[in-house]
Amino acid sequence: MRAVREFNVVPAIPESLQALSGLALNLHWTWDRPTQELFRSLDPDLWDQVGHDPTTLLARITAPRWAELAADPAMVDATRQAAQRLATAVEEPRWFQGRADSKLDLVAYFSPEFGISETLPQYSGGLGVLSGDHLKATSDLGVPLVGIGLLYDQGYFRQRLNADGLQEERFPPLDPHSLPITDTGTTVSIDLAGDQVRIRIWEAKVGRVRLFLLDTNVDGNSPEGRLVTDRLYGGDAEHRIRQELVLGVGGVRALRALGLHPDVFHSNEGHAGFLGLERIRELITGRGLSFSEAVQAVRPGSLFTTHTPVPAGIDRFERSLMERYFSDFVQTCGIGLDQLMALGLRGDEPDEKRFNMAVMGMRLAGRANGVAALHGAVSREMFAGLWPNTPIDEVPIGSITNGVHAKTWVGAPIDELLTESVGGIWDGADAQSWKAVEGLDPARIWAARRTGRAELVEFARERLGDNVLDPDALTIGFARRFATYKRAALLLGQADRLRNLLLSTDRPVQFVFAGKAHPADNEGKELIRQIEVFARQVDVGYRFVFIPDYDMAVARMMYHGCDVWLNTPRRPMEACGTSGMKAALNGALNCSILDGWWDECYDGSNGWAIASADDDPDLARRDAREAVSLFGLLEREIVPLFYQRDERGVPHGWVDMMKHNWSSLGPFVTAARMVRDYTTKLYEPACVDGERIDGDDYAPARALAAWKARVRSEWGQVTISNLTTS
Ligand SMILES: *Cc1c(COP(=O)(O)O)cnc(C)c1O
Repeated sequence: MRAVREFNVVPAIPESLQALSGLALNLHWTWDRPTQELFRSLDPDLWDQVGHDPTTLLARITAPRWAELAADPAMVDATRQAAQRLATAVEEPRWFQGRADSKLDLVAYFSPEFGISETLPQYSGGLGVLSGDHLKATSDLGVPLVGIGLLYDQGYFRQRLNADGLQEERFPPLDPHSLPITDTGTTVSIDLAGDQVRIRIWEAKVGRVRLFLLDTNVDGNSPEGRLVTDRLYGGDAEHRIRQELVLGVGGVRALRALGLHPDVFHSNEGHAGFLGLERIRELITGRGLSFSEAVQAVRPGSLFTTHTPVPAGIDRFERSLMERYFSDFVQTCGIGLDQLMALGLRGDEPDEKRFNMAVMGMRLAGRANGVAALHGAVSREMFAGLWPNTPIDEVPIGSITNGVHAKTWVGAPIDELLTESVGGIWDGADAQSWKAVEGLDPARIWAARRTGRAELVEFARERLGDNVLDPDALTIGFARRFATYKRAALLLGQADRLRNLLLSTDRPVQFVFAGKAHPADNEGKELIRQIEVFARQVDVGYRFVFIPDYDMAVARMMYHGCDVWLNTPRRPMEACGTSGMKAALNGALNCSILDGWWDECYDGSNGWAIASADDDPDLARRDAREAVSLFGLLEREIVPLFYQRDERGVPHGWVDMMKHNWSSLGPFVTAARMVRDYTTKLYEPACVDGERIDGDDYAPARALAAWKARVRSEWGQVTISNLTTS
């Protein structure tokens, strides 16, 4: 619980620099380097001390310093220019405004976590960072969209390793008044098994996109009610269903209370799925539809994106929990609990009695997708039982491969080279424009690469001590959540070969690891311990390090500085994997199992594919076989290519491969491409399909009659076989 509320006493910002507070409150600064530079220049030491957090920076600058800054015309001018750039980013017509025929008014994008910046730690891994990148690219492209999430009292936990190398967690409470969010002043409420819980709606600005974060830690709520949004993925199934009710049901109510009428509802993973039930309830009580009509009616405007390639990863709730939290709902809808449960059960799993959020997500969405081509195929197989008698290839689950927000993740020296060659808006540029990287001077590419590597080494030394790492050694990175299927410790299975690589005097290799295990995941923590114990060995320790307290800031440093990005999931468990995309944009070469995005993007010469032994039923043997392939690549190809230099020390073969990495992957791996795909392939068709049943422009009586007739004649024929709603 938020025990103490600290209110920052903010010394008045001088009139001429007032725009700074607006700049700090719009997270657009996180991808606008000149604005970051402006904040830094206000007080460089303080900027470092506050962890590059503008909100805290502005609160801590002293009155005398403000007076000094206000007296500096250059500072006043830089502030005015930054404000102008933000205004342009928010208002200027962009890609979407050129789509004159688009009927799309507004998308509501629901996600349980948003990773926009380490200064707003409301994420735990890839799903959250993807959501953040989605909002940023949406803003850049001018697509009309709002985000809906939860505001967790304690954000992403802080990690340290104890004397034994075991992860320890701290959950420092966040003070919302010192986060870059504002209180909208609007609240909604929700009935949680008889407890009326009030939800405060905060707003974060992400360029032109508004992100609403729901918070139940509100005065007047019951103690249990206040704790619903306490932390990300903590607690038991009941805690989870309560959070998901606030996100899904509370989220729809929040949109209504704010006067927003989305024509498309996009649920990023299953956690927000109850939003469909709230919309069904609205149609029944507000428009007089029957339950089965309402189910059909919410489908056209709904999208469901699945991120989970394994059944065990999906949220399921016991019938008793559903009964406790949905007794009012079933009564209002005039149905029995069985009818509600049927939405989340599969006909081909007769023994599974729990309500499956992904199954409901698929049922209530007119369109569903996985997050890479391979993951689409895996999902069609995994959910095929929902469409019996349908050939697997025709199961209606498509795929849109994830992408990453380039300007958030690419370091300054590389950004400069890409701007110069590909063009000012290289993020989102086409294949033809990306070809221009071929003309870049190899020595300049190599210099930019070394700058990134040297910064990573400096960063690691600040955290781990002066003697670690070497700014000129081949640097291999691995950073992500420590889920067991990602096999962070695969290398340790062949410790002797690893030591040989690390201890080479003429061609040294160094490894940088980072990542957190879920607090309840003891196997993940054991992997961290193994890595850390190996790293503590005196002879190899300076070339094999684990950087604790992984977050977006650590991730960024690693993408900027690593030469090779390593990814070793058990195929096909990695739905997409986005860290390799971020590394690739920075010029790192991927060395990865052919899983997720790499299965689709590896072309034989833009990185390396570790041979996957997916057919081997013996997991230990499979791991060993894949490790042999990995070491073979390192010893025979990667290390020799990196150290093959010309007289100036430039590795031409390596730089050629970096160029090919950029020209083959650059046009595809950005979030700009991803959001354009979502817009044209899913959002716009969904909005055309769905009648405007939500908007004010809906003329109730006449249109409702026409619409009902259409439901009966067209969608009435669309049956998902075991959807027993009537
Ligand atoms: C990109 C990113 C991830 C996702 O990594 P995967 O490759 O999907 O495992 C996780 N955490 C952070 C902080 C990231 O930036």
